[in-house]
Amino acid sequence: MSDKPEKLITDDGLRLDGRRADEIRPMKIEIGVLSRADGSCYLEWGRNKILVGVFGPREAHPRRSQRADTAVIRYKYNMASFSVEDRSRPGPSRRSIEISKVSREAFEPVIMAELFPKTAIDIFVEVLQADAGTRTAAINASSVALADAGIPMKGLITSCAFGKVDGKIVLDLNKDEDNYGDADFPVAMTQDGEITLVQMDGHLTPEEIKEGLELVKKGCKEILEIQQAVLRKKFETPMEELAEEAAETSNTENEVVETGVPLEYASEVAVVEEVLKETKEFEDAVSEEISEAGAVTEVVPELDELEEIIKEAEAGIEEETIEEAIESEIEEEAEKEAEEEEADFEASFEASFEEVSEPDEVEELEPEEADFGEEETGFESEIEGFVEEEPQPAEELQVEEEAGIEEAASEETLESEPEVESEAESSEEAPAEEQVEAEEEPVEELEEEKCEGPWKVVKDPSESGSRGEKDE
Ligand code: UDP
Repeated sequence: MSDKPEKLITDDGLRLDGRRADEIRPMKIEIGVLSRADGSCYLEWGRNKILVGVFGPREAHPRRSQRADTAVIRYKYNMASFSVEDRSRPGPSRRSIEISKVSREAFEPVIMAELFPKTAIDIFVEVLQADAGTRTAAINASSVALADAGIPMKGLITSCAFGKVDGKIVLDLNKDEDNYGDADFPVAMTQDGEITLVQMDGHLTPEEIKEGLELVKKGCKEILEIQQAVLRKKFETPMEELAEEAAETSNTENEVVETGVPLEYASEVAVVEEVLKETKEFEDAVSEEISEAGAVTEVVPELDELEEIIKEAEAGIEEETIEEAIESEIEEEAEKEAEEEEADFEASFEASFEEVSEPDEVEELEPEEADFGEEETGFESEIEGFVEEEPQPAEELQVEEEAGIEEAASEETLESEPEVESEAESSEEAPAEEQVEAEEEPVEELEEEKCEGPWKVVKDPSESGSRGEKDE
């Protein structure tokens, strides 16, 4: 602690730092200095250096601290241990708790906390360097930080202290004036001049307080102008200008050299670049292969022939229209198909005769066909006649064809017999006799049909046992 000066106010009426009684120390304000805070402010006032961060409105923790009708305003004043000449003891103290309380109450009349029930608005004050008047400096900084965070307020809060030094009322005490003065009187007020904080340390008469309050009003007005100027600068300046300013600052003051990639990721970047290079080479190789396979680089003789054929065809089509050409093409195709069908029919017709006249099949009929007697004899003679290809009358041919159709019908009947049975069984209302008739009828028809023609003899499965044995 410095020794007490002989005089705090010189004969010229000036204070030791050269100020007059109604002057405040130089003030400098920066806004939005903390990226993680919703609002922030850095303030230098004389040799005081204050940093403020505002968070919220946000859910209040612990829950018991929540209020259903309004937001909770929390103000934490902390003095860094290195902020004063003699090391300050870290952590909360009676002084810091008291300053936190009165400062919070200074803001409560203007913050519209009722808009944010169950939330909290946190204001953290860190005194980095102290030189008397830290609570008033912190209130001025907090006011700007709250505005920066977008907290609805009825107006800004400004704060300033007056005191009595060498029997004289002066504004904004510095460290020596605070330590060796007669009184210290911090005040905070709204833009409209309504006082939200008053404290007094020392002895003052009512007249001295009135005189001091007039000085404080003047001081607060000056501070308010500085605060408003800072806020206007931020919220009225177009973003382009801010970006330009930031770019100029980064290029001139900080001299940041852009390396592109941080050194800590250099190894990863090298690997990625190598992979990209390999991928590029592979893509180039594949695209070359594709272009070689797809492009016609050599002269193909077949192509020339094809071109000639196309030219000839085009020359022939020139004289007649395309429609005529298509119609004639279709007619030719139809004639060809008709001729082919006719030829196929004749061939199949002749083949049918040949199949029937094969002697092997006739021999297979031996055991069962013994019953046919004379008919069998006639049947064999007819077969021989077919083999010799003797001319046959047209009437006989017609009869044979009809018999062939009936034979096919009988085969269908045989195959569909089980279905008929199943249908008969399923019909519960039908009488039993009708069902028996329905089962027997196809068998009789088969026996009759069996004797109708020579090439439609069908081996009756009912007589020769199972169909599988017969097939074998
Ligand atoms: N001070 C100090 N150590 C402390 C507390 C305060 O050196 O533990 C100094 C500091 O510079 C502070 C001044 O005393 O600004 C006046 O403190 P006061 O309690 O009056 O609060 P302030 O005027 O800072 O609001």
